[in-house]
Parts: sequence; structure tokens; C-alpha cells
Amino acid sequence: MAAKGLLGSFSDEIDKILIIDWDVHHGNGTQSIFYDSNQVMMISIHRYDIFPNGCGCNSSSSSSNDGNGGVDCIGNGDGEGYNVNIPLIGSEYTNDDFKHIFNILVIPLALQFNPDFVLVSAGFDGLKGDVGGFSLTPPIFGWMTSQIRNLGKRMALVLEGGYKIQSLPKCVKWCLRGLVEEVGDEVLEIGYERDESEEEEEENKFEKNENSLFEDGFNFEQEPSSSDDNNGNSPPPIPLPPSTSLEEEKDTCFVLEGTIQSIIQVLEKMDSFWPGLSPFGNHSK
Ligand SMILES: [Zn+2]
Repeated sequence: MAAKGLLGSFSDEIDKILIIDWDVHHGNGTQSIFYDSNQVMMISIHRYDIFPNGCGCNSSSSSSNDGNGGVDCIGNGDGEGYNVNIPLIGSEYTNDDFKHIFNILVIPLALQFNPDFVLVSAGFDGLKGDVGGFSLTPPIFGWMTSQIRNLGKRMALVLEGGYKIQSLPKCVKWCLRGLVEEVGDEVLEIGYERDESEEEEEENKFEKNENSLFEDGFNFEQEPSSSDDNNGNSPPPIPLPPSTSLEEEKDTCFVLEGTIQSIIQVLEKMDSFWPGLSPFGNHSK
């Protein structure tokens, strides 16, 4: 809807939109809407073996696009080459895998497409402990946001969800940080361990605070505070995550075989449309 709105209402300024969907689910609705369009490039990184539940996952036809998150679905007609699925199989994916995918596919594609606006389907269910089974940590979302910001385009992140409600603020905070400053690779090594007791404790805390949370945060009829001083009614400032060097770990980068396979498949599919993409050079159509 946002993409349609931008193209419709700001057509004099906005002609090309890039949508990056890093949610664990395939961006099947977005794919379906813009499948024939060369005005919208859709890049979806998702867990292919689970989501969406078996819908057309084995289709090899690029015309049967509904619900299909495979690499073969590259778009149709004018939209050929503008639908990029990055399917991941299995659950062991970490920050390093997403970093690799961004460095090799997402950012080079974005540079070539050169959009006027970037929208992010910002779902956080790739977080460790969430439904995707991935092991992402909150800083990766700040890192990815920062990478997109570095494109120098207008951009917006749209919250898609995530199922660990108590962890969402951490991810969102990192995204906010990525919107305002450079988030370097080193943050990806910051430890993020969740254990059951922590989770339970946070769930309880959330439930206990739920009512006051909604009173404070979502009561639109409340009178605005008349003074600027913090009298307890004004919302606290958003604390940004500490910058850099929380934990300095070694420079190891472990990328899964599944990630490499997926990247190679996408490069092969997209090579003829985006000749500058492949590190192996341009192959013929
Ligand atoms: Zn999702």
C-alpha cells in the first residue's frame, strides 16, 4: 500500500521503489502485487522450507507466482528481473549469513536498481528464539538498516511483527540507531543469549505492565503535557544501544553452505538482468 501510494501520489519524484523484506516469511503478497512491475523491485529473504506452508514451493514456473518464494520467481513481463527471492532452507542462519546476503546481493542490487525510495518490510521473526528458528540477534537489524541508509535514498521501515513481543523493542531500537548513524560490523558479535527463565520473566513483566503500557503509550485522548520538564508523564527518551566495543570478539565469519548455494542461484538468475551484480562477470541471456 505504501509503495502504491508513493508511486501514485508522488509520481513526479518517485518512479522506482525498492522493497526489502527481511522477515522470515516470504513476502508473497508484495510479490504478487508487483510481479509485473519494473517500478518496484522486491527482494525477500525468507525461510523457504517452511513459509508459506507449502504453497507452490516446488513450482518451477515463473508465471505461477502466488505464494512461491523460489529463485525461479523473477517477475513477469516488464517485471522480469525485479522480483528477487532469496530462499533459505533450514534454520541455522545467523548474523553472518544475513551480512553476506546483504553484501553480495541486496546492496549491489539496490545500487544497480537505483531506487527513489526504499521500503523495508521489517519483520523480526528471524530473531533467535522466534518462529523462524534462525539465530539472528537484535544488532543485525540495525546493521541492515544502516547499510540501506548508506544508499542515500529516502527510506521507511514498516513494522511487520515478530512473535517475541518482549524482544521487539530491542530490534526496533537497533533499527532506529541504524537510521541515524553508522552501525559497524563489530556490533554483530555482541552476545545475545536468551534462556527460558529470562524469557518467562520478561513475559510476566510484559503482561503485568500491559495495561499501564497502553494507558501511557496509546491513549490518544490524553492531554499533551504542558511543560517540557520530566514530571513523570512524558515518555522517557528512547535509549539507544551502546555504541561499539561491547564485546570484541574475533573476526570470524561463518557462512552456511545453504546461504552460499542460495546466493549462487540468485546470482545466476539475476545475472542477465543486472550485469554488474555477479562477481563472476556477465553471462549471456
Ligand atoms: Zn514473519
